[in-house]
Amino acid sequence: MESKRVIERELKNMRDYFKSGKTKEASWRECQLQGLRRFLIEREQQISRVLLQDLGKHPVEAFRDEVGTVIKSINFALKNLREWMSGQKANLPQIALLTSAEIVPEPLGLVLIISSWNFPFGLSLEPLIGAIAAGNSVVLKPSELSSASSSLLASGLTQYLDNKAIKIVEGGPDVAQQLLDQTWDKIFFTGSSRVGRIVMSAAVKHLTPLTLELGGKCPALVDTLSSSWDLEVAVKRIIVGKYGTCAGQACIAVDYVLVERRFSSTLVELMKLWIKKMFGENPKETNTVARIVNKPHFFRLKSLLASAEVQKSVIYGGSIMDEENLFIEPTILVDPPLEAAIMTDEIFGPLLPIITVDKIEDGIEFINCRPKPLALYVFTKNKELQRRMICETSSGSVTFNDAILQYAADSLPFGGVGGSGFGSYHGKFSFETFSHQKAVVRRSFLTDFWFRFPPWTPNKLLLL
Ligand code: NAD
Repeated sequence: MESKRVIERELKNMRDYFKSGKTKEASWRECQLQGLRRFLIEREQQISRVLLQDLGKHPVEAFRDEVGTVIKSINFALKNLREWMSGQKANLPQIALLTSAEIVPEPLGLVLIISSWNFPFGLSLEPLIGAIAAGNSVVLKPSELSSASSSLLASGLTQYLDNKAIKIVEGGPDVAQQLLDQTWDKIFFTGSSRVGRIVMSAAVKHLTPLTLELGGKCPALVDTLSSSWDLEVAVKRIIVGKYGTCAGQACIAVDYVLVERRFSSTLVELMKLWIKKMFGENPKETNTVARIVNKPHFFRLKSLLASAEVQKSVIYGGSIMDEENLFIEPTILVDPPLEAAIMTDEIFGPLLPIITVDKIEDGIEFINCRPKPLALYVFTKNKELQRRMICETSSGSVTFNDAILQYAADSLPFGGVGGSGFGSYHGKFSFETFSHQKAVVRRSFLTDFWFRFPPWTPNKLLLL
């Protein structure tokens, strides 16, 4: 890592560049977004290779989550950028005679993005789109755990961008800490709540605005779906929302399933069937399930299954744990002890507990007794249950009859609530996250109400 003095000098140069006004130009923003898109298109093969190296992601999954989705977001930003920049007119009360007002978005200045390893491109570039679109100078620090991806971002992406305003700094916690010691106009952090607390303490020192994109346990509640078609659709979507999304190493992956007891064996049998259909009899050989990122995470996941009580609840998988290849097979548990770490901590891996309840409505109480999830999934056709899930639970998002889909929607804010974080991004929300909404009022010199000026007299009070 560079010395403190070097960092300070670099950041000062970036601030000076921001002050020059270059990054505020619409054409500059467009040019950077186009550069970002060119990088994704021209370097697609390389991106796929490093994602295989870092996480064993299948190229199809890599394209879906880290190239295709990001290109979609860039296209959306490019299409709407000028409209977002133009701000909006605001209405004023009648008392404001001959006055107009508007809300003008202005860039915040020099912003810091710290991202995590599970979607090293997606989670670095989605916020970067917002920071650029809003006209900021940006330092991005990807995670050191997905080192091949981080290195491609640092060496490759920078060739497509204006490096006077956009820098990629590689490194781990020590580098992040050095960056956090500096003054920023915004910090955007994606990662664990443990590190989120460290980031928040650093932000407090300079009163820096902060977005925290954290994790937690995302439940999927499955109602007693009576048609076999609906059930099959639900099962397929849950499986892909768990094992088919970076092997469950995703902040919005299904963490556990809630289901009525009488319905659980039907659900489990169908899950087993579809796991085999999607990933083959031997997912390790087919390379269709991503690898665990590193040994500490591999052992963390292994330890979640270690106790005898938890072992008893494993009803599918749970035995193929290949340390050398960092592979863990898709695993299902039914009713592990609720006080076991697998039910108190975020799982972040291909282990799926199914928790049975007497009535599906009991799921509401179950969810409400725990920290607020980043995402909540509910598979039901019952409109009343849908209404209750929206009104009686709190989560970053609720998705009915699918999983993960909400992440791809440019029209929806993506972010947490409570322990799963605060602030949001994607689409226009990303632009707003990295902008200040400035209130602008324009008054004519003509005409004033006589009673607005002192000296104050009782009859003026009557007129106000
Ligand atoms: P992490 O908190 O360990 O690391 C995230 C980033 O923080 C990395 O860039 C890392 O280098 C940096 N960091 C680590 N220790 C630090 C320290 N002491 N001081 C300053 N910076 C430090 O998280 P992770 O393991 O990369 O990601 C997993 C967690 O992130 C999970 O909880 C997951 O749910 C969450 N997550 C959330 C989202 C979201 O969009 N809400 C997306 C992905 C992951």
